[in-house]
Amino acid sequence: MSRPLGGQIQTVLGAVAPDAIGITLPHEHLLIDFKVMFAEPAAAADKARTREPVSLANLGWVRQNFNANLDNLRLQDEQVAQDEILLFKQAGGRTVVDPTPTTIGRDPRALARIARATGLNVVMGAGYYVAASHPPDMDRRTVDALAREMIADVASGVGDTGIRAGLIGEIGTTYPWTDNEQKVLRAAVIAQRETGAPLMVHPGRHPAMPMELAKLVQKEGGDLRRTIMCHLCRTIADVRAVIDLAQTGIWLEYDLFGMENSFYPYNPSFDMPNDGGRMAHVLALVAAGHRDQILLSHDIAYKTSLVKYGGYGYHHLLVNVVPRLRAKGVDDAGLHRLLVENPARAFAFA
Ligand SMILES: [Zn+2]
Repeated sequence: MSRPLGGQIQTVLGAVAPDAIGITLPHEHLLIDFKVMFAEPAAAADKARTREPVSLANLGWVRQNFNANLDNLRLQDEQVAQDEILLFKQAGGRTVVDPTPTTIGRDPRALARIARATGLNVVMGAGYYVAASHPPDMDRRTVDALAREMIADVASGVGDTGIRAGLIGEIGTTYPWTDNEQKVLRAAVIAQRETGAPLMVHPGRHPAMPMELAKLVQKEGGDLRRTIMCHLCRTIADVRAVIDLAQTGIWLEYDLFGMENSFYPYNPSFDMPNDGGRMAHVLALVAAGHRDQILLSHDIAYKTSLVKYGGYGYHHLLVNVVPRLRAKGVDDAGLHRLLVENPARAFAFA
């Protein structure tokens, strides 16, 4: 396959040169229907709260039990998405990557409208999330058919929209991972090889998963220097294991900035680190020589993360975290590397 996009970044409005993307959020959801993550609470008193709209009256409960309220799992208002992402632009941001996969609310036309209305570059994803979100006929789909679909999303656009994906992912896996998830990842690696697109993988919640996934990507002929491993802070507590993972050349994504709760309903036995813990990992990785493999984002997928609903918003990294990183010794060149140059390399097509 020819590589007309070689070296460029593919946004929903067309190709952009890497040196023009500016400050970039590599992993955010502008629009998502995340009800696949809904967990019904056991207590009768809590059940009633699952159907309430997010409000000040229930905000504390919803923040703590963020996948137990259906309204919280829906980001489907384009105007709200625009208003919220403009705060990132006002803080200096220029590009946002939305890797929402096919069956959880990806909306190419809406992303293009948001890009036009805000003047921001928006990069869209392709492929499938975790097994719970797979289409009912996934058992019968072949690796080749899945790969062809992802390749078409990147090369010619989604359906008849003409709007092209700029990455393969986020490809979802659980722990232990399912046969269909493995099949989707194999297809995603084929799509990466064929198109030169970056690949983004959401690991199952076990510290050994990211390395297992990296090995599979490598075995299937994928390029780990253009593969992004998401959600490291909720997966690997020991930074030495992240340094081991870094030896593979894979991108290390710390994409849950702004999640300051330690209770993590998807894995209650694991204490979620806060931004202080995330920064400690980032600084340790920089000290170990891996600055050029780090990506930073918020992975906003819940209403409670939005300013309108009492959250820190898409501009949190720029307004709240960057000054703290600077105070901890990351200089302007280092910040530019983390926020601009690294995403520019990570999302450029081969
Ligand atoms: Zn995500």
